Amino acid sequence: MNPRGLNDGCYRGETIVIEDVLDDCLTAAQAHGWTINWLETENNIRLLALHRAPASAHRKIYLSSGIHGDEPAAPLAMCRLITENVWPEDTALWISPCLNPTGFPANTRENAAGDDLNRDYKHLNTPEIRAHTQWLQTLPDMDFTIQLHEDWEAKGFYFYELKMGDQPTEPRRVLEAVKTVCPIDESTEIDGRKNDRGLIVPELDPRLRELWPEAFWLVMNKTQLSYTCEAPSDFQMQVRTEALVRAVRSLLD
Ligand SMILES: [Zn+2]
Repeated sequence: MNPRGLNDGCYRGETIVIEDVLDDCLTAAQAHGWTINWLETENNIRLLALHRAPASAHRKIYLSSGIHGDEPAAPLAMCRLITENVWPEDTALWISPCLNPTGFPANTRENAAGDDLNRDYKHLNTPEIRAHTQWLQTLPDMDFTIQLHEDWEAKGFYFYELKMGDQPTEPRRVLEAVKTVCPIDESTEIDGRKNDRGLIVPELDPRLRELWPEAFWLVMNKTQLSYTCEAPSDFQMQVRTEALVRAVRSLLD
């Protein structure tokens, strides 16, 4: 399990046809009885939103993927989770499988208009994020949230735990689960933040930051706890997808 050495200044691995991945998500979601929602943006983009709530559910969890169009393993992993349909029976789920459908055809982090949607959750300048946050506002508070991403520079899997309260958590469990299928990035620093063997716990106050990723909006509006998972996109697609699937399953356990 080694990096392929394809990425060079950006992601250069294989791409996906996002419509096909979303068709697969939709087909599986319908087959498994999910409630389907299409969020309409002002510029006529449709964002798929899914919901399931078993009668026995006492936890609420929100998941998202596909906000960066050059991170294909994220929607692929989400599609696999929806298709396999193995979820804890005590959990109500809300899922946004692809927040940036116009970014994938061009394999760009940004949407077709050139905006990084994952920096727009404070100012809400883009139609996609306005529609998304309008929908999120209608949801109840979540026990925690999970955002799936990839990092073209990463040497292995790592993830962020953004915790606003002092509830006990067991983030190392996730790394133990992922480690069996994908290397962990052991760099001491990633994007200027201290990386503790795959775990980054940012010491930051969203209120003091000018550009908000989705995770900031979530911890300011809907939850006390948010996980952003980053797969290393220079590895084989199967390794990256499996890493994200394992991370989600471990977080939901
Ligand atoms: Zn990303």
